Parts: sequence; C-alpha cells; structure tokens
Amino acid sequence: MSTAAAYAMSAPDGSFEKVTVERRALGPDDVLIDIKYTGICHSDIHTARDEWGGAQYPCVPGHEIAGIVAAVGPEVRKYQVGDRVGVGCLVNSCGKCEPCLAGEEQYCATGATWTYNSPVAESVQPGGYTIGGYSTQIVVGESFVVAIPEGIGLDVAAPLLCAGITLYSPLRHWNAGPGKKVAIIGMGGLGHVGVKIAAALGAEVTVLSQSLRKRDDGLRMGASHYYATSDRETFRQLRGRFDLIINTVSADLPIDHYLRLLALDGTLVILGLPENPMRVTGRHLAAYRRSLAGSMIGGIAQTQEMLNFCASHGIGAEIELISADEIDSAYERVVASDVQYRFVIDTVSI
Ligand code: NAP
Ligand code: ZN
Ligand code: ZN
Repeated sequence: MSTAAAYAMSAPDGSFEKVTVERRALGPDDVLIDIKYTGICHSDIHTARDEWGGAQYPCVPGHEIAGIVAAVGPEVRKYQVGDRVGVGCLVNSCGKCEPCLAGEEQYCATGATWTYNSPVAESVQPGGYTIGGYSTQIVVGESFVVAIPEGIGLDVAAPLLCAGITLYSPLRHWNAGPGKKVAIIGMGGLGHVGVKIAAALGAEVTVLSQSLRKRDDGLRMGASHYYATSDRETFRQLRGRFDLIINTVSADLPIDHYLRLLALDGTLVILGLPENPMRVTGRHLAAYRRSLAGSMIGGIAQTQEMLNFCASHGIGAEIELISADEIDSAYERVVASDVQYRFVIDTVSI
C-alpha cells in the first residue's frame, strides 16, 4: 500500500480540497503511474455534483490521465519504468463476456469498473470504490493502460483518453470518412476533438454551436461549416443535410429539431449525458428512415488505435492548463461553456 495526494469533493455542493488517498500495493500485473496531467471532463462534474445519483464521497474524479510508469509488477510485459502511458474511463472488466471478448470492455455484461466512483473490493481500492486521476499516482492493471506515442505532449494527450476515444469510436462505427457529411453538436471538450478527428478521417464537418463565438477555432480545427443553433434559420437551412450527427451537449436539447437535419438513413448519436430523459417524436425518426443511437467511450484496443491515429495526424486537445486549486472555478467555466477547449490539471500543483 502507498499513499498519494489528491483533490476530492466531500459533498455534492462542496468544493475541492486536498486529501491523501491510499493506492493498493502492486499486484503481479499492476502498473504504478506517476500522473503528470489529468483532464477535466464534464462527466467529472456530473459525478462530483451527484447529478447522476450514486456518487461516493469523498469523490476524486479524473479519467483523462497521462503520466509516466513509476514501477511495474513482476508479470507486467507491456510497460517498463519511464514509459509514457495513459488511463481512461475504464480500469477493469470481466474479460470473459461477449463484449469483453470483442474488445468492447466498456459494455461488459457484468459492468465495467470505471476509473472513479465504481464499487470494488477493499483489496483493489481501500475505501471500496475507485479513486480517479485528480491525484499524483494511480495503480492500474496493465491491460487497462495504453501507451501514449512519442509526438503527442502528455498534456494535450490527456483529454484524448476520454474525449478522444468517445468521439473516435462512433465516428469509426458509423463510417465517418470521405463523402460523408458529419455534424458535431457542441464545441466543448468532446466536440472540438471530434471536429479534428472527423476532419482527419476525411468527412465534411459542420459544427452546430450555440453561437458563432468559436467559429474561427472550429474552422481552424477542420470544420468546413459552422452554424449557430440560437438562430432558427439554421434548422430550416440544414434540414435533411447530414449522414451523421454527433451530439456532445451536456444539457437538455430539443432532439426533434436535430433529427430533422438527418438525410435518408442518417444517424444521430447521443454522447452527452444530461440527467433528464429526452423527448423524441416518432414521425421525425420514421421520415427518411432515420436512426437515433448512443455510444459510450470505446474499448482499450480502440483507445490505443485512436492515440496512434491522433499522433500520426498531429492531433491533440486544445487545453487550458490549471493548478489543482483552480478546479472549482474551472468547473464553473465548463458549465458556462467557457473553456477553450479542455481544462487540464498540472499535477505538480497537487
Ligand atoms: P463540455 O466541455 O462542457 O462541452 C459541452 C458543450 O455543449 C459546450 O461546450 C456547449 O457547446 C454545449 N452546451 C452546453 N450547454 C448547452 C445548452 N444548454 N444548450 C446547447 N448546448 C450546450 O462537456 P464535455 O466534457 O465535452 O462533455 C459533454 C457531455 O458528454 C457531458 O454530458 C458528458 O458527461 C458526456 N460524456 C459522455 C461520454 C460517453 O461516453 N458517451 C464520454 C464523455 C463525456 P457550444 O458552446 O459550442 O454550444
Ligand atoms: Zn469523460
Ligand atoms: Zn465482460
């Protein structure tokens, strides 16, 4: 057993404070990682504020982890001390069910173990639930650790561990590429990485943002078109336009309005996870044989594929680096859609 410094919230309406957490002793397959950078995902906020229910306190979020291997267990084969590595949203799964065998561990039939706020045995994490990456160190089994290729800075790689794979996976699944018109709703942490990846895959990318405030950035990142959803004309002009629409918005949206922007056989994929259910009108789906779908992060092998793809296309997240004592104010700015485009905690400050 070892200890690490971390930042934790002690109640849904609390603020972050420095704490000491325990990390398990290295098992044979375990990797001890010195965390260098951790991204702030909107899911951290949903969890820390208990917007989804079931949050455990003290709550240490953080599932966009980039760091350096500090020690390895005796049976670790893939990593050595000094390697650049990442950990995303998953730290374990059953390894035996159909989704796990297909490399889709995030859909494990018995429930994957998430990087934070997931129930586990005391021997896995003292306290009985997982403790995330707003911390100086973490211990993770080697099969849930990925290699961060040379060529991407660890700071801009960190957000790829959740935002990157969450966009890469559905873009690949629904064949975003040359000849495909793809719209990304929401130019936030997920959305901006989605614009870069979809453009690198060769799709024609449109951003649907609340305003035109971030238009220049969107076009620079690879979008061909940028529309404000606050303008009703946008919905009239773009009706029937897209093969694929990816919704990254963290708040409730009038989904019907967006369904009508899909072309024949088009798919609208829900990634954003606001707390309330959404309303969908059947006839907007039935018209043009449209599909409404969802997607959750991606498997470990695909996360590695995504990192390699991003490295070869020069893709990293656009970040604002902060110190740990700025997490509370960063949360406020994320909720206000005022981040360019991902806050990343420099763990030197923890
Ligand atoms: P984020 O950085 O806060 O970005 C969300 C974006 O949504 C904002 O930048 C904003 O874009 C838009 N938005 C916010 N409030 C809005 C409103 N009231 N109406 C319309 N648009 C609004 O959040 P994120 O980290 O990208 O995460 C987004 C969502 O995805 C969260 O719900 C998160 O929990 C979820 N998520 C899901 C998965 C998954 O596997 N499915 C993985 C990670 C995160 P504009 O300023 O451009 O309008
Ligand atoms: Zn996330
Ligand atoms: Zn499984």
